[in-house]
Amino acid sequence: MDLGIKDKVAVITGGSIGIGLAIADGLAAEGVHLVLCARNAERLETEAARLRQTYGVRVLTVSGDVSKAADIDNLITATKNEFGGADILINNAGTGSNETIMEAPDEKWQQYWDLHVMAAIRTARGFAPLMMERGGGVILNNASICAAQPLWYEPIYNVTKAALSMFTKCLSDELIPKNIRVNGVNLGLVLTPDWKNTARLLTEGTDRTPEDYLQEVADENATIKRFASPQEAADLFVFLCSERATYAVGSTYYLDGGMLKVVK
Ligand code: NDP
Repeated sequence: MDLGIKDKVAVITGGSIGIGLAIADGLAAEGVHLVLCARNAERLETEAARLRQTYGVRVLTVSGDVSKAADIDNLITATKNEFGGADILINNAGTGSNETIMEAPDEKWQQYWDLHVMAAIRTARGFAPLMMERGGGVILNNASICAAQPLWYEPIYNVTKAALSMFTKCLSDELIPKNIRVNGVNLGLVLTPDWKNTARLLTEGTDRTPEDYLQEVADENATIKRFASPQEAADLFVFLCSERATYAVGSTYYLDGGMLKVVK
């Protein structure tokens, strides 16, 4: 299938590892040039070098914290200077939490609000005008199944990802007249290095292996009884960015191995 996105420019926040990196690989394989943003500059540059070498695409790295307005301004300026703008924006940077509502301080709510919601608002405000100059574009927000079906231990994650989903819908209505398609993705369990690390830490010094732990999580949550690979997750993003998905507007797509327990 020709996805029709060769030589487009995609900005991916959190594009240095895990799902964001798998999306970078998926898009680069289609000939898309990349702007990757994350805090750790060294990891970012290592992966960028590999992507350039493997796919022959241009890759700009911009290290920064997307929960900070100034760093997003810098990301937008750097993209403009290197590529003149962008056609695709993937708001992917994010992380889980662990707290109770009774105990979490305001600062923690603010930190996750800035990372999961304000980052997407600010990148959209900055990149959408550049997309309009190019005749249109695509924005994808990586929320989570937790936006609709909460996990008990991370209320701040659940609430801020739910807000991101509503933002996706509102932004879509505003931008589709400008030929910018905005959609969201709600993933279930995706086996990133972070999950492997958590499994290792939680099983260290016990008689369970990290694999035992991960299998228990999968058995408990996903009807398919396994995690998705980052590549399986990335394939949906790449499709939604493509010319094969031009009627996909204002929706949130689930990819969760049966984890969602209601009909939506
Ligand atoms: P990882 O922790 O593997 O990767 C996160 C990426 O985001 C890294 O590149 C990280 O780089 C970057 N990042 C984190 N915080 C910031 C920040 N403040 N500013 C800039 N970059 C940042 O996460 P996953 O790949 O697992 O998750 C990616 C997205 O998918 C997240 O939004 C997550 O909520 C969502 N998701 C994940 C699921 C899963 O099972 N893995 C399931 C459902 C949704 P650095 O640390 O260098 O900044």
